[in-house]
Amino acid sequence: MKKILIGITILLISGCGSRGTDPYFSPYVDADKDYCEIYNGEGCSLIGIIYISFKDTLESEGLFDDAYCYRGQISINLLSWAGMDEDQRQIIILHELGHCAFGMKDNHTVDETGRPTSIMYYSPMVISPYWKEYKDDYLREFFGGDSL
Ligand SMILES: [Zn+2]
Repeated sequence: MKKILIGITILLISGCGSRGTDPYFSPYVDADKDYCEIYNGEGCSLIGIIYISFKDTLESEGLFDDAYCYRGQISINLLSWAGMDEDQRQIIILHELGHCAFGMKDNHTVDETGRPTSIMYYSPMVISPYWKEYKDDYLREFFGGDSL
């Protein structure tokens, strides 16, 4: 019994709650884990261990990006997030998971029409007008797996 109590105490101090991702982001993370598995991505479990939280612009150190990955943690600019639609939110979380979970880098690749071909496009909000039509292509390219 004592061991169980110690175990629970350690869990409470070190694990859940204090360091877990803000539960607010769970639906996005769960969806991305599902996509990873559907598209035969590798290391899908890494998605769940990345810490994601809001960063108040006023508290940030002069960083005005919509979001960024730093030392394995994703920070989302609360003001930017408030102005995003659901597609844009999905894109930004995936983009930052690309950096934080998979070590991917930004790219500048566009197709002949000027459409970014990757979720890792350096300015991910540019993707949003194309998202609905090309979602399958983006997810396939991102996870490196097969098309649906
Ligand atoms: Zn990026």
